[in-house]
Amino acid sequence: MSEEVPGGRVWVEDRAWRLLSECEVKKCRQPQCPNHAVASFLRYSPGRKKSFRWAYCADHLYGRKIIEPGVIVVSVDRESEAAERGYAQ
Ligand SMILES: [Zn+2]
Repeated sequence: MSEEVPGGRVWVEDRAWRLLSECEVKKCRQPQCPNHAVASFLRYSPGRKKSFRWAYCADHLYGRKIIEPGVIVVSVDRESEAAERGYAQ
């Protein structure tokens, strides 16, 4: 699944991110952002030796977009491994 983006990049599914379910009510992690989070990714904390889900709102997906329920895409270089594979992880 990859769609062309101008500038030699393509959209691929980002499997590190997932949408929050309706019962997961979290605030966006971005400091000072008042929005509710819509998606999260697993981030390893070396200090606590454990991974935690970091959740962000639709305005703070760092270039990602939600194209349909459950599918978050990110643009990657057309020549990258992720583009060849069809997804980022
Ligand atoms: Zn936010």
